[in-house]
Amino acid sequence: MFSRILVANRGEIAVRIIRAAHELGVEAVAVYSTADRDAAHVRMADAAICIGAPPPGESYLNIPRIISAAEVANVDAIHPGYGFLAENAHFAEVCRSCNIEFIGPSAESMNLLGDKVRCKQLAIKNKVPVAPGSKGKIEGEDEAIKIAREIGYPVIVKASAGGGGRGMRVAHNDISLRNGMRQAMAEAQSAFGDGTVYIEKFLESARHVEVQILGDHYGHVVHLFERDCTMQRRHQKLIEEAPCPVLDNDRRDALCKAAARLAKAAGYYSAGTVEFLMDKRKKFYLMEVNTRVQVEHPVTELLTGIDIVKMQIRIASGERLPFSQKQIKANGHAIEVRINAEDPANKFRPAPGRIAQFDPPGGPGVRIDTHCYSGYEVPPNYDSLLAKLIVHQPTREEAIATIHRALTEFRVSPNPTTIPLHIRLMLNGNFRRSTVDIHFVERLLEQHTLPSE
Ligand code: ADP
Repeated sequence: MFSRILVANRGEIAVRIIRAAHELGVEAVAVYSTADRDAAHVRMADAAICIGAPPPGESYLNIPRIISAAEVANVDAIHPGYGFLAENAHFAEVCRSCNIEFIGPSAESMNLLGDKVRCKQLAIKNKVPVAPGSKGKIEGEDEAIKIAREIGYPVIVKASAGGGGRGMRVAHNDISLRNGMRQAMAEAQSAFGDGTVYIEKFLESARHVEVQILGDHYGHVVHLFERDCTMQRRHQKLIEEAPCPVLDNDRRDALCKAAARLAKAAGYYSAGTVEFLMDKRKKFYLMEVNTRVQVEHPVTELLTGIDIVKMQIRIASGERLPFSQKQIKANGHAIEVRINAEDPANKFRPAPGRIAQFDPPGGPGVRIDTHCYSGYEVPPNYDSLLAKLIVHQPTREEAIATIHRALTEFRVSPNPTTIPLHIRLMLNGNFRRSTVDIHFVERLLEQHTLPSE
């Protein structure tokens, strides 16, 4: 096992990683920007190094500064968390060339799976279902139109290097497809330096279902079942749960096996997530692979009893996976809600600033992952996630009752947060019956203003 690791991140995930390291008897070194001097991860770490100014490019995204910190602190490995450098294959390569273990997959599998065209081709080769569409990249508008007519409108143009919902356009006819192609290519070129696009059938009223993967350095890959992340707003997940409430065991088995097959074919190790869309007929289509720990990983930890972050560290240090697929069991039902410093009554505008009172709930079945405390100043420079509230109970009904109870106990003031929205969603009949799709929350928000009810 390592003796010391560097945590190249901030916020709740930095706290989460420091906790995992400490439970493994590993020292954790934090890095921080000047905006994060008083942050919880800085206080909890065994040592902390300031790496620069608040803009991410000058601190958390700055590879030379992070590597210098790692060398000064003399660490064995770096955990990138999620966001920032987590899916940057070049950073993983730099770590290895400096003899610092990157706690994540190889740069090769990150490159392969991060290129959506190559990922889709690998999926097809391994009989993992993908949405009908182009086999590879599209060269021009005429080719796009030919394929769109074959598969039928609506279609979606997607950037091969895409991420964060950028470089995507939906088209309902030839004219909007020509425009969408031009816009998506230009956007992808400027955002990712790669204008390669492909098209696929646009699935209406789909659900988002993803599979958690773990692999070790010896070719052993397992899945930890699925998570349902259908409750989103503008592609941002709001609520995640496991198991997926509308899946029977045969479909679950086929889905999870397909995800594990794809990971194995990519030579994958560490934790990863294979994301799918599920249509009304409960057919699955691969969307993308995230080569990092996800925000919503605690849902799976509660479901399976497996600590995913500790497993990432153990795998990176060369340990074998300590269980076989058969030994992994799913128990009960877990739900997570994301508490963001955003104003639901004001188009979800980010609401940074000092939190005077921060009193999270507790009691049976409740877990809180957060970096916040009373008196903490939320900086305006980073994402707005304040806390994740996660519950675990024997049934989905009980889990909803527990999370609703916990949400009503949660006190954050004076900052606006997504708590009132979540309270309302937990009481919503469609959510309770699971008759929702990925656009459900947006439709609901168009009908009413929050948080007056
Ligand atoms: P990104 O890497 O930019 O997040 P994804 O491939 O994960 O891109 O897609 C982001 C979102 O776009 C999905 O969550 C889904 O809502 C929508 N989307 C992507 N592909 C399709 C499709 N074929 N049909 C319908 N919606 C899609």
